[in-house]
Amino acid sequence: MDKKELLRTTKLFVLDMDGTFYLGNRILPGAADFLRAVRAAGKEYLFFTNNSSRSPEEYIRKLAGMGCPIARSQIMTSGDVTIRYLKTHFAGKTVYLMGTPPLEESFRAAGIPLTQGQPDIVVVAFDTTLTYEKLSHACTCIRNGALFLATHLDINCPTETGFIPDCGSFCAAIGLSTGKKPKYLGKPFAETVEMVLDQTGFVRESVAFVGDRLYTDVATGVNNGAKGILVLTGETHLEDVGASAVKPDGIYASLGEMGELLAQMAQS
Ligand SMILES: [Mg+2]
Repeated sequence: MDKKELLRTTKLFVLDMDGTFYLGNRILPGAADFLRAVRAAGKEYLFFTNNSSRSPEEYIRKLAGMGCPIARSQIMTSGDVTIRYLKTHFAGKTVYLMGTPPLEESFRAAGIPLTQGQPDIVVVAFDTTLTYEKLSHACTCIRNGALFLATHLDINCPTETGFIPDCGSFCAAIGLSTGKKPKYLGKPFAETVEMVLDQTGFVRESVAFVGDRLYTDVATGVNNGAKGILVLTGETHLEDVGASAVKPDGIYASLGEMGELLAQMAQS
């Protein structure tokens, strides 16, 4: 689809954060202007990150520090998708959460009964406070029959000093130990799109998932009847697209380019 036509038909932009809006603690050039152009065009945006180690409130503070204040309704994480999935399909079931204290707080605030004993369900998240004891307990619970869920599938998380092991790596270890595979939530899965549509009221054809990863960000859109937009400010290079099974609906150099095109369209 033509670059401008894709922007014209998109009413809601669901933005990835790291590699798309900022790199580490540095906002990318043109990213704040993109948000202004979206608002000026009468369209909407929200942020979605697979990183379940931090709470939505922490992201709100981080973005505010970059001069981009957002409302709670404009930030969603794979932790939020997991909470919604549990409340929809497993209301009242007990959960052993292998996650960070901020994620535990989010689960408790949502009324999910957490237990340190044998639960109905084990949820594995991006636990940066992981210990051998927690890993071992998760394996024991799954071996004893608990359902195995994971907030997202990312194997590694990029940081300023290189990759660190993410949720998918923990799931691989648990999977090897127990012989069980998890059900993954977050991007690129249908539950994420359903949550966005439910909470915003947009129809899927008017929603674009924007990010720097083909297999998570872009795939969320193209695999689930929404749009998938690739930006080249993070992990993916233009030459990677040919080899990928996931074909973006549009490719832009950056959110900055998208913002400039939106601003041009407003003037013509
Ligand atoms: Mg990213």
